[in-house]
Order: sequence, then C-alpha cells, then structure tokens
Amino acid sequence: MTCPVCFFRDDYQKQLKKRTFGIDRFENKLTKYKEIFIEDIRQMSSMSSCSCHLTYDQSGMIVWTDSFLYSLKNAEAEVSSAFDRMISIYEDFISKSQKIATERLWSHLKEQNLLTQLESPITYARLLFRARAKGGFDEKDIKQYFHIPFSNRHLVGNQRFSVSGQPMVYFGNSVLALTKELECNASDLAVAAYLPSYSKYYYSKIFSLTNYIGDCIENTLPGIFSAGSKVSYDETELLPNRQTIARDIHKSVLMHLCTFPTEFKGTFVAEYVIPQMLTTALLEHGYAGIVFPSTKDYSDLYGSHRFSSHQLNFRTSDIV
Ligand SMILES: [Zn+2]
Repeated sequence: MTCPVCFFRDDYQKQLKKRTFGIDRFENKLTKYKEIFIEDIRQMSSMSSCSCHLTYDQSGMIVWTDSFLYSLKNAEAEVSSAFDRMISIYEDFISKSQKIATERLWSHLKEQNLLTQLESPITYARLLFRARAKGGFDEKDIKQYFHIPFSNRHLVGNQRFSVSGQPMVYFGNSVLALTKELECNASDLAVAAYLPSYSKYYYSKIFSLTNYIGDCIENTLPGIFSAGSKVSYDETELLPNRQTIARDIHKSVLMHLCTFPTEFKGTFVAEYVIPQMLTTALLEHGYAGIVFPSTKDYSDLYGSHRFSSHQLNFRTSDIV
C-alpha cells in the first residue's frame, strides 16, 4: 500500500516498472505496468496513514493530497485510456510505420493539451554542464566537449532521447547528474560549464517532460505549507488542480513510459521507441529541445536537499 507522495516518486515507479522484467515483448510489459499502476491507485491510502507522514507533518499537506487522491481514484478510466493510447501508438510503430506512429503521438499530445506547458526560456539561463572521461583529448579545448561533428553523424549512437544520425547536445544540470549518466567518478571526468544566452532562447520552445506531479507534491507543497500558506487543490490558478486531473494523468503516464528502464540492449531498444518518437515529433514541429528526467539510480544519495533538481538532463538541437 502506498500514498500519493510515495507513489509518484521516480524510484517507486522504477520499482513498479522493473516488476515487468522477464515478460516477453515490450508491449506486454507496458500492459502489465498499466495493471500494476492502476491496482496501486486502487489500494492507495491517505498520506496520514503512510510513514512519509512523519516527514511532511503539516495538516495542509494531508488535506491537499487527500483531495488529489480522491480525484485520482475517480479518474481510473483516464489512467487506463492514457496507457492504452500509448501502447497502441507503440504497436503502430512496430506493426505499421514510424511515420504513422509519430503522427498519432503528435495528435495525442495536441488532443490531451500536453503541448501548452513549456519550460520558460529563463529556465535555461543557468549553468549547464558537459563532461568527458579524462584522457585522449585536449581538456582545454572547449570544442572537444561538444557533439560529434555533423560530418561524422554516422557515429552518433542510439540514445533514449536522440535518434541515430540526428546529433543533439546533451547537458546535465549538475555535475552529479553527469557522473550518474556517464557512470564515472567526478575525479575521472573533465567537466565544462556553459551559460546559455537568454536572448538566444527567448523565442525557443522547449518541451518539459518532468515528474510534474511528484515534484509538486514532494518538493513544492511542503515548502508552501511549512511557510504557513494555505493552498487548496480546488484553486484553479495553481497547477495541478482538480480541473487538470486528466491532463496531469496523461502527462505523467507519458513521462513514466518514456523513462522505462531497459532490461536488454540490442540494436533495437524497445524502451527508446516512445522517447525517440517524442523527440522526432518535437523537432519536426519547431521545438529546440526537451528537458527530461534521468533514469539513473540516485538512491545512494543521502542528505540531498529535496529541492535539488539533479535528475534533469537537458538536450537540445540548436544550443550552439
Ligand atoms: Zn507515503
């Protein structure tokens, strides 16, 4: 049994997804994940009866999460349809064509109003990082930290949010995120920091694929309530609220499916199909990039502040 705070944590969702390991075919794993996800919502109880209550002991937190829980339990049909649509799009990819599937994904994003919540350009006017393992290149040459030259695009590999042959620039928003992504100690990495120009991004559209519900419940609300502010789940000026539950569910399901852990990696990586289609669709429609959460394990960290946002990686097609 879980509560809304624990359920939307990245680590908890990763555990649920890993329970599908051993099942043949990715579409069957997605169907199983859907069943587990829905069953967990059915069994979900108030934060007041969960151990995390000790961490977030403000009464306002319980009232807000109870209201949210009530809406979530009443939206089971929406959860089911969010999964079914994405599974069907994946099946179109493997049985029809990439083009048909990508167009259906784009229609889905528009229908569910998932394209309206963008990252503000001011979000990128902050330090971002790139790193390479030390040795074998000139660490003082800043160009060595950028992507493979376009003339060598055939060397660009297959990654979760970038399509083979379409180079994009990956940035971490912390050195810690880079050590996780590259699976290296910080002392073994040469790191370069970049400060993007706000004017360059002012007109850019960047899609945000973050754990929006989890971030709100676990990072934002405790701060608001501990400061003595009163916030209700019914307030429509704030997001999320009772009116946005359908969109919140669709956005959350999309994010959780895009970050599905890989069990095997071969030439074809089924877990990368949906995030790569999303990247392709966004680039085709003029987006400059995508902010996405890391799929690496951060559970070995202790004492990190709950506002630390080290789990976001940043990739864009035209940052340089
Ligand atoms: Zn809990």
